[in-house]
Amino acid sequence: QELAVITGAVDLMVVDVQCVMPALASITNCFHTKLVTTSAKAKIPGVEHVQFSEESAYRIAKEIVTRAVENFPNRNPKKVNIPEDETDLIAGFTTETVYQFLGGRYRSTFRPLNDAVMDGRLRGAVGVVGCNNPNMTHDYGHVALTKELLRNDVLVVTSGCSAIADAKQGLLQPEAAFQYAGAGLREICETVGIPPVLHVGSCVDNSRILTTLVSIVDEGGLGKDFSQLPIAGSAPEWMSEKAVTIGFYCVASGLLTHFSTPQPVLGSPGVTKFITEEVEGILGGKFFFEPDPIKAAGTILNHLDQKRAELKLKPLMYKPVATPV
Ligand code: SF4
Repeated sequence: QELAVITGAVDLMVVDVQCVMPALASITNCFHTKLVTTSAKAKIPGVEHVQFSEESAYRIAKEIVTRAVENFPNRNPKKVNIPEDETDLIAGFTTETVYQFLGGRYRSTFRPLNDAVMDGRLRGAVGVVGCNNPNMTHDYGHVALTKELLRNDVLVVTSGCSAIADAKQGLLQPEAAFQYAGAGLREICETVGIPPVLHVGSCVDNSRILTTLVSIVDEGGLGKDFSQLPIAGSAPEWMSEKAVTIGFYCVASGLLTHFSTPQPVLGSPGVTKFITEEVEGILGGKFFFEPDPIKAAGTILNHLDQKRAELKLKPLMYKPVATPV
């Protein structure tokens, strides 16, 4: 949000209820940008409010766009600074599109993906998702963890703010496989024409990952429950309450779930032990907290290998490629 505003080229920014950065009102005041809130639950002092209602969506949207157009003449050319760097990306994979990519339009199937995991071409798959956190070096956690997984033949699925970090690094284009993926993952990306990191939408679209996993289990050969699959979830720079909720449904679905900094539970040894150990016996998944993304990747890779061993899958075909620069 702030990065877009400081280009000086945003005539109006609309925010509703979620993940609105607290400094946004002060930053927009440094530029000509008009800030507009649309939810009665989340007004901001000194900021214009246009109440949204679904029944009048078109009229309200038109009104907001008109305000933006009227604000255009107030742009200060001296403050406009649009970076020249550009990166291509492929975004918006769904369960259905992955299905078609893997099997082709006329014989859509998850079989090639399941076979790749069973044959050891692919070690597993990890959802690297979630926020940026002002307490950490911006994007470092997402990008370092993702690259470490890719070179170890792990397919990465991403969403939300994490996807933007990956996109800026060029990881959401098929060519990224040549630079960052292990030999097995690279073969799959080359054959199917997909990026090694699949973007599935905003962070509330993480449920798409779960529906894809259901299809993978249905396809057969990799166990009967998510907790048996060589998969995991990670939020390497989490900060929002929404991330905690998503983390909990990830754990409840049976996944090992990495959060960088600990959730505010360490004051209670009982709660900490429950969500990082005991819950696994009930739901199959659990949290672990590790701020260092490379160490976190190590724990995740060990977990994937353990699941592979339990499923008696074939050994991995290839050694990891060298650490990316
Ligand atoms: S990833 Fe985090 S910061 Fe980004 S929209 Fe989702 S909850 Fe908000």
